[in-house]
Amino acid sequence: MAKNENRQYVTTRCSECGKELRPINKNKKNHPEKMELKRYCSNCRKHTVAKEKK
Ligand SMILES: [Zn+2]
Repeated sequence: MAKNENRQYVTTRCSECGKELRPINKNKKNHPEKMELKRYCSNCRKHTVAKEKK
């Protein structure tokens, strides 16, 4: 069974409070750069821009 090398779990962090959100399964082939995406932050209790950690 071949593993898909392009799929990788990356940690995202809320840009407003800095809380770590659940990892996303990113396809590195489609998104080689750092991603910014809107996610629900349980700390802010709203949707915020989450940035990829590191
Ligand atoms: Zn937050």
